[in-house]
Amino acid sequence: MSTDQQYDVVVIGGGPAGLSATVTLARSLRSVLVVDAGEPRNAPSTGAHNVLGREGVPPLELLAAGRREAEGYGAEIRRDLAVSARREREVFAVELASGGTVRARRLVLATGLVDELPEIPGVRELWGHSVLHCPYCHGWEVRGRRIGVLATSPMSIHQALMFRRLSDEITLFRHTMPDPGDDAEEQLAALGVRVVDGTVARLRSADGELRAVVLDDGGEVPVDALVVAPRFLARTELFEQLGGKPSDHPMGAFIATGPMSRTEVPGVWAAGNADDLSATVAGAAGAGVFAGAAVNADLVAEDAAEAVRVRRGERAGRDPRGAGDGSDVREDGAAGATPLRTP
Ligand SMILES: Cc1cc2nc3c(=O)[nH]c(=O)nc-3n(C[C@H](O)[C@H](O)[C@H](O)COP(=O)(O)OP(=O)(O)OC[C@H]3O[C@@H](n4cnc5c(N)ncnc54)[C@H](O)[C@@H]3O)c2cc1C
Repeated sequence: MSTDQQYDVVVIGGGPAGLSATVTLARSLRSVLVVDAGEPRNAPSTGAHNVLGREGVPPLELLAAGRREAEGYGAEIRRDLAVSARREREVFAVELASGGTVRARRLVLATGLVDELPEIPGVRELWGHSVLHCPYCHGWEVRGRRIGVLATSPMSIHQALMFRRLSDEITLFRHTMPDPGDDAEEQLAALGVRVVDGTVARLRSADGELRAVVLDDGGEVPVDALVVAPRFLARTELFEQLGGKPSDHPMGAFIATGPMSRTEVPGVWAAGNADDLSATVAGAAGAGVFAGAAVNADLVAEDAAEAVRVRRGERAGRDPRGAGDGSDVREDGAAGATPLRTP
């Protein structure tokens, strides 16, 4: 199949955000291509939780169902990596790792984020199983167990309090955390959180399960799970190639958007963890639906404006900067004259 094709929309990333945007667009009879490298963030997990109606569904199974649903409405999905994106006069051109270029009137960046893990031997191997970050994703699964918290910033105190809700046996490893202050110390003491001084050297595991945290001085503290605080780095390379500037966040970096997921780069939307570092599966899917609806509305407005120009005998011409010339972008990120579709 030739990759030198043009679509209404190319969605980059086929996780919950990208596939939800795709279903929404395809149901409005938009031609949509999803380019997906197939590495969703929660792939190491056995189940996705807090997903209403599909509680605990294996992450890859959920996405396989999403791909079937998108294809059922005529969307095209390719397992590929989008290596670069640029604006040509009227369209966007996206180059694929496998070769070839696809073009689209609009882009949705649903590229997710990379969890930058603490550089401690054992953390990466156990990530998503017994090394955890989110009480809502894995908290229930480790309730009542011996849970360690690797402290790397004042945020770690918050994590300790969140997991304390789920277990009486919480140990905070001070590791590299600066002094949290008297109030935090008092809270930990009042809740019976054990605090261990010293730097963590490595994790000890057996049969793929965490057994203990090993300290620099050789001491070991047995735990069943360890909570860490990764840095959340949205994949922003394509956005930057298109002229966008990533935004800093205390916990990483992301692509800033308006309420309908429109970015500062005209014609480009972002949804899911790419623009919201805390988005869950359901949240990312919801954002994808909004982004799809906003892109469709923008195309509807552009097509109507072009039909008027044609009717008046003016020269027709499309502009990837959005409905009209892009100057009608409101502060909230939506196109001024665009009647946004209400899902
Ligand atoms: C270990 C772990 C467990 C989790 N458990 C839960 C849970 O139980 N419940 C919950 O609600 N949330 C959970 N989450 C959060 C969940 O993973 C995210 O909310 C969700 O994946 C965000 O969806 P997304 O579509 O934004 O990004 P992703 O799901 O990460 O999808 C992004 C996709 O884009 C692709 N991509 C990126 N760049 C390119 C490119 N240039 N070209 C082509 N493709 C590209 C990637 O390969 C990937 O397939 C968990 C996260 C982690 C790390």
